[in-house]
Amino acid sequence: KMNHDLGQHILKNPLVAQGIVDKSDLKPSDTVLEVGPGTGNLTVRILEKARKVIAVEMDPRMAAELTKRVQGKPEQKRLEIMLGDVIKTTLPSFDVCISNTPYQISSPLVFKLLQQRPPPRAAILMFQREFALRLIARPGDALYCRLSVNVQMWARVTHIMKVGRNNFRPPPQVESSVVRIEPKIPPPPIDYDEWDGLLRVCFVRKNKTLSASFKQSSVLGMMEKNYKTWCAQNERMVEDNFEIKALVEKVLTETGLGEKRAGKCGEDEFLKLLYEFNQVGVHFA
Ligand code: SAM
Repeated sequence: KMNHDLGQHILKNPLVAQGIVDKSDLKPSDTVLEVGPGTGNLTVRILEKARKVIAVEMDPRMAAELTKRVQGKPEQKRLEIMLGDVIKTTLPSFDVCISNTPYQISSPLVFKLLQQRPPPRAAILMFQREFALRLIARPGDALYCRLSVNVQMWARVTHIMKVGRNNFRPPPQVESSVVRIEPKIPPPPIDYDEWDGLLRVCFVRKNKTLSASFKQSSVLGMMEKNYKTWCAQNERMVEDNFEIKALVEKVLTETGLGEKRAGKCGEDEFLKLLYEFNQVGVHFA
């Protein structure tokens, strides 16, 4: 019956389900987005605390089971079920997102939530333990990666609780953790794709120096192309003897970051790097 490709691990422990909803600090006026309600173990508890639940579920059999669970009850009117893939769905506005997340959509879901406008107050999400630890990792930590810097640019992330695999049916392969993601309001005035573009370059090898990462020919090629586009858009001549390599070295030297490793750099350092590259007309998106 279970479709494992959809990450269907139903939360069986009522204490954990109630714990997640309690930690969400819901207000009676809240509209909650629930991703992957399954049979509704979280949904019925959210409905006790919030005004409205919008539940996006991809599996029609699960949606039918959830419909049956509230049928004829007063809360039926406060539950809206949207059938489909949450990643491909245009979401209405909501105050809080709660999800026992299907693990294969962890990353796209986080980024979809961070780009949602207006930003939700918070998202309380269950993830595989390692993914959760990546979200909260700090410079120098073993799990610090592009995802950590990216998410922490747009949100404050905190670890809420550990959840063992035996709380689910069927149990998943690995342990889980619940995290809270609170988008920064207002969102930082940074171009989303530029930020991600810079981090992609820096984190190809997080233990290499930044100057090594910026020496790869594919990276230099991309930067040169973007530089020339920028020149054309700003009616600037590209000098005959122009060399992207020299320009990149100049920025790395002037920022003093050439010898640092991405795995040890914090948000301020990446921001400084992006700012200095943009100043000389080099873009990453
Ligand atoms: N919320 C329930 C619980 O805690 O018991 C079920 C959680 S189960 C881990 C994940 C649920 O997400 C499943 O019901 C699955 O069908 C659904 N799902 C998987 N991929 C999805 C997607 N892309 N969009 C919406 N729902 C999805």
